[in-house]
Amino acid sequence: MASRAFRAERTIVQVSEDIAIGGERIHVMAGPCAVESREQLLEAAAQVKAAGATILRGGAFKPRTSPYSFQGLGVKGLEILAEAREKYGLKIVTEVMDVRSLPVVAEYADIIQVGARNMQNFDLLKELGKIDKPVLLKRGLSATIEEWLMAAEYILSGGNFKVILCERGIRTFETYTRNTLDLSAVPIVKHLSHLPVIVDPSHGVGRWQFIPAMCRAAIAAGADGLLVEVHPNPPEALCDGAQSLTPKTFAETMEELRRIAAAV
Ligand code: PEP
Ligand code: MN
Repeated sequence: MASRAFRAERTIVQVSEDIAIGGERIHVMAGPCAVESREQLLEAAAQVKAAGATILRGGAFKPRTSPYSFQGLGVKGLEILAEAREKYGLKIVTEVMDVRSLPVVAEYADIIQVGARNMQNFDLLKELGKIDKPVLLKRGLSATIEEWLMAAEYILSGGNFKVILCERGIRTFETYTRNTLDLSAVPIVKHLSHLPVIVDPSHGVGRWQFIPAMCRAAIAAGADGLLVEVHPNPPEALCDGAQSLTPKTFAETMEELRRIAAAV
């Protein structure tokens, strides 16, 4: 069902009346890795909105490698995201970690993110297939494109066609970058599937210095959008500070993107 043989026309995922992923316009989802406080998120929301992002990202439930790292604010974080949505007119993308927290995440989110670590959480994928909400499905840490499309198949086969794929880098032998951003996945997914595909250079590269270039490359390669980590004060970030753009660098990057694609 994810293949172009099943559906010839491209799927456009309607997030709201004016936001369609996979349509004419490139949508940029930006914000901090994690919702840390009301002040931090509202500040980030104002900054990414001013630069032209249409969707605010921020994790309330965080899948951290270490159990001793900041785990997110949970439901309190979702409430803060909802406040930012009201105040700035942005839509919200946030991660769901398990079936248990799906109802509450679905209540607040406009797009439900499935993180790389959960790409093959088949129980969660099956539940997401039963709801009528856009799902952002990240590529797994070491997943092939075929495995990734099969994960999407779980959601589609349940009846939910609102699936947006997200390339976020894969594990290779290279250690200079956090992961290796596989930009070839963009044209390959478009060749194999009707689903829209966006790129997350933040987790793909892991170092802020190289992220603007990968944002430009992703759009030039045909991505339908971007997911970018932006923090009001990256050195103070509780999560992923090294890969977070300052609001200023983000705004400059957005300007550059407008020279590559007319509608960003
Ligand atoms: C995130 O978007 O903050 C995140 C945890 O990403 P990934 O699942 O790609 O590691
Ligand atoms: Mn992150």
